[in-house]
Amino acid sequence: MTDCIFCKIASGVIPAKMVYEDDRFVVFPDISPLYRTHLLIVPKRHIASVNDVDGAGNDALAGIFAVAKAAADKVGVAEGGYRLTVNTGLHAGQVVMHFHMHLLAGEPLRAL
Ligand code: 5GP
Ligand code: ZN
Repeated sequence: MTDCIFCKIASGVIPAKMVYEDDRFVVFPDISPLYRTHLLIVPKRHIASVNDVDGAGNDALAGIFAVAKAAADKVGVAEGGYRLTVNTGLHAGQVVMHFHMHLLAGEPLRAL
């Protein structure tokens, strides 16, 4: 996955200001934030999208909500509230084909 920007960030080839890291996930700010807080929760293992989740991918994503909660706690938005979003494919506007979950917070979010 040499051309995958999130693989490069997750492996440290491209530096990012990590909010959280463990053996399976990294969390860092979106380069083009849509809200006051806009983080990306990214598995270190390359999984292109939800459509590509297989058994191993499912294992790699296990625990992602606990990571989201830890990241929300760390940046101080857990109590105020936040939204977790996963875009999948063209119609959802997925542009980076390495699975990621957006954590949006820091201000009131428009109702879905
Ligand atoms: P998607 O639409 O695929 O769900 O969202 C991809 C997100 O990744 C976008 O919000 C975009 O701003 C962000 N992004 C794309 N390239 C980079 C990058 O090199 N660094 C960071 N931090 N975010 C990126
Ligand atoms: Zn990747």
